[in-house]
Amino acid sequence: MRFDIITLFPELFEPFLKIGITRRAYEAGLVDVRLWNPRDYAEGNYRRVDDRPFGGGPGMVMMAEPLTACLTAIRADRGQDRDVAPLVFFSPIGETLRHAAVQRWSDSQGAVLLCGRYEGIDQRFIDTYVDLQISLGDFVLSGGELAAMTLLDSVARLQPGVLNDEGSHQLDSFNPALDGLLDCPHYTRPEQWEGQGVPAELMSGHHVNIERWRRDQRLRLTARLRPELIDAARAAAKLTPQDEAILKAQNSL
Ligand code: SAH
Repeated sequence: MRFDIITLFPELFEPFLKIGITRRAYEAGLVDVRLWNPRDYAEGNYRRVDDRPFGGGPGMVMMAEPLTACLTAIRADRGQDRDVAPLVFFSPIGETLRHAAVQRWSDSQGAVLLCGRYEGIDQRFIDTYVDLQISLGDFVLSGGELAAMTLLDSVARLQPGVLNDEGSHQLDSFNPALDGLLDCPHYTRPEQWEGQGVPAELMSGHHVNIERWRRDQRLRLTARLRPELIDAARAAAKLTPQDEAILKAQNSL
């Protein structure tokens, strides 16, 4: 899969592609990342990429022309059109990113990712070329780069062979393999820390009991913090009678 990233600050991506999981996915060629700076496609001595907003007001707006030239170069280089590699614009008004979408991206051929800066981008460019807008949540960043890195990171760790332990991502929160529940608590050495021990089930060496304990913890935590995820698991017929008994016991506490 290939992600082409349009950004005024390509250098922000360098450390990210040199470390950890994202580096592994990048170096193994599982997630090909190419960086494109609209400034390289801007006209004039100053290579201007932004200008003042019509109608007045504070801040600057990214201009449509350099972005269009940059996108045209990417499309030519990829040899793929928007039906294969859609143009994603990161924006607070977009759909909030969730596991299901990350999973879809991780099975895709990639995308062109557009990182906004300043007040945003000329609306005419968005109307003409953007296929989809993605938000990280109800807050405002100063640029789309962190959002692009977030998408790349979450997609990279789902690629087969990227995590040390194959399939370990299936144990993570929201994964359908564990019915979309939240993850259970984890513990490691030492066995005693600041007067606190470790749940006895985890020390029992009894595999079935350990798995049952983990499932119970996932159910309880999810019911408490994200009850809508329990509703979704129930609607998808993923909860066993034993699961329901745990949830019922929790409710009556
Ligand atoms: N004026 C815009 C915010 C511009 S912030 C508004 O109020 O909606 C500059 C850029 O940061 C945006 O163009 C976008 O690419 C990125 N950005 C800011 N907040 C974001 C969020 N919650 N999710 C994804 N990208 C975001």
